[in-house]
Amino acid sequence: MSRHSVLITRMIPEKAVAYLKEQCDVEVNPHDRPLTKDELLASAKGRHAVMTMLTDPVNAELMDAVGPQCKIIANYAVGFNNMDIAAATERGIFLSNTPDVLTDATADMAWALMLAVARRVAEGDKVTRAGQFVGWSPLYMLGPEVSGKTLGIVGAGRIGQATAKRAIGFNMKVVYTANSPKPDFEKATGAAYLPLDDLLRTADFISLHVPLTPKTKYLISEREFGIMKKTAILVNTARGPVVDEKALAKALQTGQIWGAGLDVYEREPIVEDALLGLHNAVLAPHLGSATFETRENMGFMAANNILKALGGEVPPQCLNPEAAGKR
Ligand code: NAP
Repeated sequence: MSRHSVLITRMIPEKAVAYLKEQCDVEVNPHDRPLTKDELLASAKGRHAVMTMLTDPVNAELMDAVGPQCKIIANYAVGFNNMDIAAATERGIFLSNTPDVLTDATADMAWALMLAVARRVAEGDKVTRAGQFVGWSPLYMLGPEVSGKTLGIVGAGRIGQATAKRAIGFNMKVVYTANSPKPDFEKATGAAYLPLDDLLRTADFISLHVPLTPKTKYLISEREFGIMKKTAILVNTARGPVVDEKALAKALQTGQIWGAGLDVYEREPIVEDALLGLHNAVLAPHLGSATFETRENMGFMAANNILKALGGEVPPQCLNPEAAGKR
């Protein structure tokens, strides 16, 4: 029997590729960049499964280019805002993502940014390298204390809750918002549910963990910056378009908020020009899940979803189990 044919649209950790190669014929995009639209459509053609990245538009055009033999498109990401679920279900194609395995790494990144902004780590690094450090001084480069403050979690799902749990070690009060209250989370952390506007008024640190959907696009814009504390620090490790980047740059420039730490951008890899010159913004290049361990585990999880679907089962991290009825 001939082996199933799988495309992986970017190089991922080799062990996960090797795992898939034990059972399938696997082709990996050899370039260290996303495939262009034409390359993606051409190289996906005729595959039984495709492993995609958050930078690949997984839409009807791609699905039709792959063809009716395709059983699954497995995203190498937990976010699936790049995927058209209805189009996949209609065609009987399973979609899957990689939840849980990247939760800790992404929560750590949110904390790295919170601390870096508050304690001016990136700014201080630049000054030191430029030879401008002239010695300890009582009033030099002060920032807000982190311990004891209020952390606002916007989107208390897997990553939001993991970010909140880390706040316990900093003796912080946690407030959160989500579609619905989370009693178990409240019991475990002492967190209190607040509507978004109340959270924005209350929190010293605001960390975003919602998925990108039509409802969360520009969730944080000019109006929201207007109700935050002047001392607030905003951290975004969710998706760029959750924040209106121009409004953020203005809020930082005018002192409407104190600082921001960003891992994601509205038009990646383009970053709003106005942000680049701001000393009170720490800008990371989308590194939320970028640890050796997590990227390998994401690869195994996506590979496993592919193997399950190719074996005729509903994949464990399936986003549209109802596609089974369409095959
Ligand atoms: P998750 O478990 O699904 O959590 C999402 C949370 O957002 C849920 O608590 C949900 O509330 C809440 N939510 C959804 N829409 C909302 C709205 N309109 N208003 C308020 N809350 C809303 O997802 P996750 O695994 O934590 O991942 C979150 C996101 O992080 C992903 O979608 C992805 O885009 C991003 N991410 C980024 C990186 C990175 O590299 N920077 C890495 C991993 C993930 P309910 O539970 O009440 O429905």
